[in-house]
Amino acid sequence: MDNRFDRQSFSIGIDAGHVPFDILFIQAPAAFLEDFPFLQYYIHELLHFWQTLSSGYLMNLALGEWINLNKFEKTGIAVNDVGLMEQFTRPDPKLGFSVADLSESLCRFWELHILNPEQLINLKNRIPSDHDREEYIAKGNEILKTLTLDNPIRKYSPAILAKLTCGSLTPYKSRDFDELLFEHLKENDQYFLPFAIVRAAFGSTLATVLFPIIGYFALQTKHPISFFREAVNGLIPKYKPVSEHKINVNDFWRTNFKEIHEECCRINLSHFGSVFTPGWDVLRSRDLETQPICNFYRTILHFIRQDYYLQGKLFHMDLDPIFSIPGDPDNRTVLSFMFRPPITIFNNGFWTVESAGDIKKLIPFFDIYEMVRFKSEEQGISADEDNTMSSSNEKLAQSSKLMLQRVSTFREACTLRKFNL
Ligand SMILES: [Zn+2]
Repeated sequence: MDNRFDRQSFSIGIDAGHVPFDILFIQAPAAFLEDFPFLQYYIHELLHFWQTLSSGYLMNLALGEWINLNKFEKTGIAVNDVGLMEQFTRPDPKLGFSVADLSESLCRFWELHILNPEQLINLKNRIPSDHDREEYIAKGNEILKTLTLDNPIRKYSPAILAKLTCGSLTPYKSRDFDELLFEHLKENDQYFLPFAIVRAAFGSTLATVLFPIIGYFALQTKHPISFFREAVNGLIPKYKPVSEHKINVNDFWRTNFKEIHEECCRINLSHFGSVFTPGWDVLRSRDLETQPICNFYRTILHFIRQDYYLQGKLFHMDLDPIFSIPGDPDNRTVLSFMFRPPITIFNNGFWTVESAGDIKKLIPFFDIYEMVRFKSEEQGISADEDNTMSSSNEKLAQSSKLMLQRVSTFREACTLRKFNL
């Protein structure tokens, strides 16, 4: 099996053996990477999943594919003529990269950031890491003594415990993060190009802050590459390269997001006369009403975009800062609880959204899946597997698997038709 994310079933496939799910795999994957190397692929595909939910462009691709799949199932005519698809993979003649490259570049960027670039380089070059250091193992053993007997993290190695509790011995924020990132992204020129363009314009430190936000909003436009180009040009007068390397990038993102967002809005309006279209807006499209997997996420998104009260306080969740900066541990915690793929399929097992059964005990008000079920029952929506809300997470996982089969039958038919077989 390939490592992949599928846009119709929203499923993730991982070419590795199954291990029990732990929410910490999403929240602190760097600590687990040495013991569970598949997490590098899981995090990458998970980033594609979050990216699709937030991007109007990618969700429109999914919508086009869904319409074609429906047509095939009704008429037997298999055509995959999504207009956006051609633009998606065609490199821009001026900048030299495609929307697909930009999407990939962003996921690679976050994957490296989240998993600690230095650790990845050490692993690749087989340089002994924190894991092997005696002091680290000793620290982990000390922590183990303080854990209650029923603490689920006891099952992990002392090095993981030390990393979870104290972080890496060599945190990369004090190092030249962007240089390491640059080295990594350089390995695949096409994926590296979008980041390299921002880096050339703003210097490496600012590029780390600006690139993911510009890229995120580009994928909320009809012409991501043109927007990307205009945004880089438009932001140059506003942001002078900073030489300071010892910045806390998470703080930098938090303090600068609003301003960069507003600049991007202005550029989009003045150059293209349009506003951003997030994926959740496309999810409201009538044509997706019968798409069982999309329907589930639409309901979650509808829920949390309304103001809500928690312990007497009014909350409003602004999704753009959360989805655009999944590298921020706080944002990733929210994403890990609220937006997990319906199924992650391993070579010999799978995870559903319910795999982390303890979430409800941990923070009951955060059990968004429970809320969705409640809401659908309240609205009298039946739990019909095929075209309405799934009544349970197991059913959702089943629907996702079924969708994967439908998609593969359709793609096969498209290929046969193309080659006149
Ligand atoms: Zn990818």
